[in-house]
Amino acid sequence: TIGVTLARTVEKYADHVALIDAAIGRQWTYAEFHRDVRALAAGLLRLGVVKGDRVGLWAPNRFEWVLVQYATAEIGAILVNLNPAYRQNEVEYALKQSGTSVVLAAERFKDSGYESMLAEARPHCPDLREVVTFESAAWTELTAAPSDEELARVAEIAASLSADDPINIQYTSGTTGFPKGATLSHRNIGNNGYLVGELLDYTADDRICLPVPFYHCFGMVMGNLAATSHGAAMVIPGPAFDPKATLDAVAEHRCTSLYGVPTMFIAELALLDAAPEGYAPDLSSLRTGIMAGSPCPEQVMRQVVDRMHMSEVSICYGMTETSPVSTQTRVDDPLDLRVTTVGQVGPHLEIKIVAPGMGETLGRNETGELCTRGYSVMTGYWNDPEKTAEAIDSEGWMHTGDLAEMDDAGYVRITGRIKDMVIRGGENIYPREIEEFLYTHPDILDAQVIGVPDEKYGEELMAWIRLRDHATDLTAEDVRAFADGKIARHKIPRYVHVVKEFPMTVTGKVRKVAMREEATHILE
Ligand code: ATP
Ligand code: MG
Repeated sequence: TIGVTLARTVEKYADHVALIDAAIGRQWTYAEFHRDVRALAAGLLRLGVVKGDRVGLWAPNRFEWVLVQYATAEIGAILVNLNPAYRQNEVEYALKQSGTSVVLAAERFKDSGYESMLAEARPHCPDLREVVTFESAAWTELTAAPSDEELARVAEIAASLSADDPINIQYTSGTTGFPKGATLSHRNIGNNGYLVGELLDYTADDRICLPVPFYHCFGMVMGNLAATSHGAAMVIPGPAFDPKATLDAVAEHRCTSLYGVPTMFIAELALLDAAPEGYAPDLSSLRTGIMAGSPCPEQVMRQVVDRMHMSEVSICYGMTETSPVSTQTRVDDPLDLRVTTVGQVGPHLEIKIVAPGMGETLGRNETGELCTRGYSVMTGYWNDPEKTAEAIDSEGWMHTGDLAEMDDAGYVRITGRIKDMVIRGGENIYPREIEEFLYTHPDILDAQVIGVPDEKYGEELMAWIRLRDHATDLTAEDVRAFADGKIARHKIPRYVHVVKEFPMTVTGKVRKVAMREEATHILE
């Protein structure tokens, strides 16, 4: 279980740094971290929380998040991760759907008053009986030094838990629709975090900079659980992603590893390019890191290697429902494969590529839906046997909804989501391929391609583009001239739409659903 793994790390690395909250300049050794985790676990017992109770956590990345993650695991409570971007309806939906009884939360974050939204939610959430904000006296009480009896009680419960007990409900990003509550056990996420760290060669000397949200498995599993199972340090650059705060935290705390979704690395590279007032953070401590979450452009990967010292950077592919990682590039894979594929299947897992919808297994280098099976597959969607049965078949294969192909050596390339594939004049077009091409244009900072309805072809291609600082405009004609002779005619976008930002989820995923909706208005 998560608690047993943490206790082992604490025994070996008591004096090593476990956690740094750079925004407030505080740090914890493993001994101190364990003390605070168990104090909070005891506090939750005093609050009446018992094994299997759902405990909601609504906060941006700050140290309390990590304490709550480990304290709930210690007593077998089921942590319900609430997305910091949720508003009234969404938080009510998640609290009701999960039957959450206790919520721990930041009082507010940016323009969101969590405390007041929770107060408003209360009458509609019959199971909700306690709300404690980090800023309140109740939180101080909850985290106060426990008695010896209380500590013994925590230890007794921790020892009685089984690896198959559910400890976490994570709502998916909601990129393609309404978020679904993936239910995960110690075995699911504890193993995934540990193995992700193994493949990055983590040791107790590593320090991992984590600008990715904790509420998502990228932060809490690939970050926190990978760190604590290896005695490495978790470094929180700040509550909301900021490229400068992130690079400053790397430099100040000599981080060896840096995580991000592609858009985060794009923003960090743009900051290095712009170099305001000669800004040049010392990134020489970096060795590795992870890019994941959505398609990782080759150009961006190469720059991360060349300009950010991340020679051993890895791409991971996965989804919330699979704890999350299913495939990962290894640090000793050839560079070309590390920047163009999502690597090979993870240890103790299986993957296969099938014809979408039909299930027949395809051959090597054929494009189809990626399916995965093994310890990482969730126990199911919380209280939703129907959706669970749609996602996991009777043989235990999770159907990901992602299109992929596998080469003869087992390296996997993700071609996109089934839902994002464009069919133009009867031909399947994978936006990913065109996006990769557009990245080679010197004026283009970021590009996303969608299909829009078209009378003649069924669908036509539209590119949304974010320009680099030096560029002023880019028209469809410019793009056509640039693409002419380099990519097939039918893959050249008919429409080009220049924007400052793409519609995004908090996890940093581009919401193509929202782009398609907006595009129909633009084209009207
Ligand atoms: P929802 O399921 O609610 O629509 P979501 O699928 O975005 O949201 P997550 O579980 O956070 O929610 O994301 C998993 C998805 O992210 C994968 O199914 C895949 O489409 C995409 N993804 C993750 N890693 C990669 C990667 N390395 N390359 C390409 N796509 C990736
Ligand atoms: Mg999904």
